[in-house]
Amino acid sequence: MLEEKNRELKQLSDLGEFALIERLTADFTIDTGKTVLGVGDDAAVLTPSQSETIITTDMLCEGVHFNPNYTSLRHLGYKAVAVNVSDICAMNAIPSHILVSIAASARFTVEALDELYAGIKIACDSYKIDLVGGDTVSSRSGLVISVTALGHAQAHGIVKRSGAADKELLVVSGDLGSAYFGLQVLERENISLQSNPQHQPDLEPYDYIIQRQMKPEARLDIVHLLNALDVVPTAMIDVSDGLASEVLHLAKNSGVGFVIYEEKLPMDHQVIDTAEEFGINPVTAVLSGGEDYELLFTIKQEDFEKIKGNPHLTVIGHASSDTSSYLVTKDNQTIELTAMGWDNFDE
Ligand code: ADP
Ligand code: MG
Repeated sequence: MLEEKNRELKQLSDLGEFALIERLTADFTIDTGKTVLGVGDDAAVLTPSQSETIITTDMLCEGVHFNPNYTSLRHLGYKAVAVNVSDICAMNAIPSHILVSIAASARFTVEALDELYAGIKIACDSYKIDLVGGDTVSSRSGLVISVTALGHAQAHGIVKRSGAADKELLVVSGDLGSAYFGLQVLERENISLQSNPQHQPDLEPYDYIIQRQMKPEARLDIVHLLNALDVVPTAMIDVSDGLASEVLHLAKNSGVGFVIYEEKLPMDHQVIDTAEEFGINPVTAVLSGGEDYELLFTIKQEDFEKIKGNPHLTVIGHASSDTSSYLVTKDNQTIELTAMGWDNFDE
C-alpha cells in the first residue's frame, strides 16, 4: 500500500540537486530588510548591522533527536528552526537569518521534503527571519537537518551565562516538564499503534503537552517583553536539557550557587495529571526532562517590581554564595542538584 503510494510520489533522484533546492526554497521571500542577497548564488549577502552579530548552530538526527514514526516533517522543520532561535533568544538577541543544511536518504520523497520546508517557512514567518542558504546532500540512511541561525543585539544588551551574582533572583518563563510528558504519551501511543494498527488514541486530554513536544516555541516574545519592561537579565540560558542541568550551567559559569523551591516550579495541570497517570514524580520531569525551551535567567533584586505578577514569568529561587546548588522540597528537605537532577531526588 505504502509502496503503491510512494510510486506516485517523486523520488529525490527524479529531480536532481538544483531543481530540488529551487523547489524547496521557491516559497521563501526575503522580508526582514536585513538581507541583500538570499538563496541562489554561491553565498548570501547580509545588510551590515549597527549591532553585534550572534551566531549559533544545532543539528537534528533521525533516530537520535526525532522518531519519524510520530514526528511529522512539518513539525520537525519548525522545531529545527525554533531550537536555534531559542539559543539566539537565550543571548537576549533578536534572530534575523538562518541557513538550513539537509542530508536525506533515498527513502525520503520530494513531497516529504516539501513538508519539512513548509514547517521551516512557518517558523521563518513566525520569528521574522530570512532563509538565506544551506546545503543539500544525500545520506546513506536517515535524515539529518542542520540549522545555523544569526541574530543581533546591542553590545550592552547581550546576556551571557556568566553574569549572575549572589542574592539575585532566578526567574523562568512559561512552564516546565510539558515536553517530557508529551513525549511519554507519544511513545506510549506509538507502541500501542505498532501492536494494533486500528488503535485510535484520544489525545485531547494531552493536547497542550503534545503540542509542547512536537512544536516547541522559542521564547522570542520574552526577549521583547524583557526589553519592554526595561529588564536586562544578568545571566541567561534556554532550558533545553532539563532545569537542573541549566541551573548548574548558570552556577558554574557565574561562580555562584542557586537555591530553587519545589513549590515555585511552574507546571501545567496536564503535567500534574499525566505524571500521576504514569507514576512519575512531575518534579523529576521538570529537573531532567528537557526540551521545554523556556528561558531561565537571573535579575537584580531591584528589578523584581518590574516583573512581579507577570503571568509569563516565575521567580523560582535565588543565587547564593555557595558553590553548590539545592532544591528545597515542599516538605522542607534540602537536596543538592546534580546534572542528573532526578538521581538525587529519587533517593
Ligand atoms: P554550491 O555548490 O556553491 O555549494 P549549492 O548548489 O549547494 O551551491 O547551493 C546553491 C544555493 O542554494 C546556495 O545559495 C545555497 O545556499 C542554497 N541552498 C542549497 N541547499 C539548500 C537548502 N537545503 N536550503 C536552503 N538553501 C539551500
Ligand atoms: Mg552546497
